[in-house]
Amino acid sequence: MINETYKEMLGKKSVIRQLSEFATARGKEIGYENVFDYSLGNPSVPVPEEFTKAMIEMLEQDSPMALHGYSPSLGNPEFKQAVADSLNRRFGMNYKASHIFPTSGAAGAIAHALRAITKPGDEVIVFAPFFPEYIPYVTGTGAEIVVVPADTKAFQINFDKFEELLTNKVKAVLINSPNNPTGAVYTKVGLKEWVDYANANGSVILFDAAYEAFIEDDTLPKSIFEIEGARTCAIEICSLSKTAGFTGTRLGYTVIPKTLERYGMNFNAMWVRNRTTKTNGVSYIIQVGGAAVFTDEGQKQIHENINIYKKNAKVIMEALDAVGIWYCGGKNAPYVWMKCPDGMGSWEFFDYLLENIQVIGTPGEGFGKCGEGYFRFSSFGSPEDTKEAAERIKNLLKK
Ligand code: PLP
Repeated sequence: MINETYKEMLGKKSVIRQLSEFATARGKEIGYENVFDYSLGNPSVPVPEEFTKAMIEMLEQDSPMALHGYSPSLGNPEFKQAVADSLNRRFGMNYKASHIFPTSGAAGAIAHALRAITKPGDEVIVFAPFFPEYIPYVTGTGAEIVVVPADTKAFQINFDKFEELLTNKVKAVLINSPNNPTGAVYTKVGLKEWVDYANANGSVILFDAAYEAFIEDDTLPKSIFEIEGARTCAIEICSLSKTAGFTGTRLGYTVIPKTLERYGMNFNAMWVRNRTTKTNGVSYIIQVGGAAVFTDEGQKQIHENINIYKKNAKVIMEALDAVGIWYCGGKNAPYVWMKCPDGMGSWEFFDYLLENIQVIGTPGEGFGKCGEGYFRFSSFGSPEDTKEAAERIKNLLKK
């Protein structure tokens, strides 16, 4: 006997799974080294050396009982302090270890925060196009997902539609900036409107900042807490998946300001969620090793990695510029979101690229209906492959 909701989910294939099946089939035909895959967000550069060094040292020197025993329910104090210190240095904030809650990547953070805030029947607003896993994160809580349609001019916030969809059932607004898939970053003015709304109606902003480290434009907000009033209504979600190359290692965290306690929202609520889902938090050794990437040296290495992805995005953008194709993103995010040429559908364009030049990206339709006619390239390839792939894209689209 299986829960009907899960049964229905099993019947639906995720776009990512379909893409990897296509890539595997094509790889078998022509050799995997000849397929250029820009569909996934799987990092292609090594994790920071600081992390590896810290892990080796810890495993060699510390007591195995301490390393593998139960860890503190609210997270490892060293990790939390390292994150708080790093945020304070970077953003001039005054966080304490007690504001940080370690999670199993951004996914764990969002899923737990949603469970702590909503109850079945509540509504959670998201903005199209969005990371498709938001659907199970929200619906898994029994809440309903309400999608604000996209403003397809620049993929910024569609405020008119947002206001139309607001009801008193809305308990959380899930915002992702820089956005996956469009690479768009929301402005301070836009975020201030949300913060004012959330403070007025008692909803919580879940700010998914998984890609904040990619923002290079200083006028754009990297943290929701740069916005006045956010400390009374927002939770920030961060991840080391893409920046430190930890997609499989699973480490992220939430920043919850003390002031959110006016809603009864605090770390104990997150911990209770951890307990009820029996994840019991992040593995102790990953937290201790993870603290090393928040040192100045660890951050320097992360930025070196990010610069590689930024150069890749630039190479892809230059190829699209050369053939006059519209795109956004790329500059402040590891994703380039392009319009498919000649009115092609996004799956049609996928087939066209794979068949002719063996390049794989993600059809926009995988991010919701408004993504039809658009296509996403991630910038997580090696620089050599990316140059080759961009050249192929340029030459094909020239035709
Ligand atoms: N949020 C967004 C916008 C993402 O793109 C992803 C992963 O691609 C996640 C959350 C989940 O990240 P993690 O791997 O840290 O759980």
